[in-house]
Amino acid sequence: MANIKTALVIGGGIAGPMAAIALRKAGIEASVYEAYPRPSEGIGGALALEPNGLAALDVIGAAEAVRSVATPITRSVLSLGDRELGEIPSLPGLPPRYVIERADLHAILHDAARAAGLRFEHGKRLLGVEESRTGITARFEDGSAATAEILVGADGVRSTVRTLIDPAAPGAAFTGLLGFGATVDAGLALEPGTMTFAFGRRAYYLYWRTRDGRTAWGANLPSAQPLTLREARALPTEDWLATLRATYADDDPGARLARCTTPANLQVVGALHIMPPVPRWHRGRMVLVGDAVHAPSNSTGQGASLAIESAVQLARCVRDMPDAHSAFEAYEALRRSRVEGIARRGAKINHSKAPGRVARMFMPLALPLMFKLMDLEKTMGAEQRYTIDWSARVTTAARASAA
Ligand SMILES: Cc1cc2nc3c(=O)[nH]c(=O)nc-3n(C[C@H](O)[C@H](O)[C@H](O)COP(=O)(O)OP(=O)(O)OC[C@H]3O[C@@H](n4cnc5c(N)ncnc54)[C@H](O)[C@@H]3O)c2cc1C
Repeated sequence: MANIKTALVIGGGIAGPMAAIALRKAGIEASVYEAYPRPSEGIGGALALEPNGLAALDVIGAAEAVRSVATPITRSVLSLGDRELGEIPSLPGLPPRYVIERADLHAILHDAARAAGLRFEHGKRLLGVEESRTGITARFEDGSAATAEILVGADGVRSTVRTLIDPAAPGAAFTGLLGFGATVDAGLALEPGTMTFAFGRRAYYLYWRTRDGRTAWGANLPSAQPLTLREARALPTEDWLATLRATYADDDPGARLARCTTPANLQVVGALHIMPPVPRWHRGRMVLVGDAVHAPSNSTGQGASLAIESAVQLARCVRDMPDAHSAFEAYEALRRSRVEGIARRGAKINHSKAPGRVARMFMPLALPLMFKLMDLEKTMGAEQRYTIDWSARVTTAARASAA
């Protein structure tokens, strides 16, 4: 039974509700404080959950709810222009990747949080904290405050908690890409379960068939400006749509996907980021989880899955270690090398620039050969086969062997 009995969780995205539910399962009372005034406000687009993310969701019993609404992806292919370059190899014996609308994942996690009896407060933007010998008090923009024994910063790439822990902490690095997404009736005859990663003439995009037979697509638009979600949405959607149509005008089916997208169904996501290694994951009674401490590039498809895993591991450490400091040390030792390794892999495969003329000539030969020579188990095995044994006790020995 945990010595720590209460936690404040800052951020109601993915890592926050997940951490609160896992802490509750570990016998710790947790409340979630989210800056946005309403659930699901400003949330858009789809995200992929890899087998390891689904396995971590299983710990809190939410994986089945995800599988019941998400689209399973059993095959991934690469394409250049209208030419398929081949199938991206996948690991044998693993369940599929699932693509879910972000709003659906939020709803599942919020329902699970409510079912676990957790308090969820919206319109609570954290500004600062005060620590005492026995607890930590969070101060919110609306003048209110809340106190508990520990505070979990699940407040995303622009984390306030990160700078409260360490004012010199690095900020997120811009990948040079802005994200967009839409689900459209494009009349494409796509194979169910296939996701295509396409190198367009000017920019990268991806698309797949949804459960209802329509086509979902995501676009990564090169941009010199790292526009936030708010800044990107301040520009008229019609203007973004015009830019997307011009960018993908010479691509098949990119041009058709952009043409079928309307201002009403275009999701503007804003700048895509990577977190560089964060020197301090915790200080005193504060600790970070999710994108606040380890956002890999979106090219890994692992951001949400890692956030979910970290939330579960943090809860195990708080459950099993005698105090906040040793729990946070154990948590960092269990997680740091894994998440930083995946971030390094992502940085290598980030598609921030469309391939040039020479690269386009070599890709049809080089990529299939690269896939053939790739030691898939070595590159992806540890990443996707990762599971968490909730019932296993975290000990100092386990912590040392993970470091
Ligand atoms: C376009 C795009 C595509 C992506 N695709 C994938 C994918 O396919 N697969 C994948 O695994 N990941 C993907 N990701 C990454 C994934 O979305 C993130 O890794 C995941 O959302 C991280 O969850 P989080 O809870 O840590 O952060 P967030 O989801 O960002 O949640 C943080 C929450 O904290 C709140 N908050 C911020 N500051 C404060 C404050 N001061 N006080 C209170 N609340 C605050 C925010 O409002 C927000 O609700 C994608 C991301 C983008 C942008």
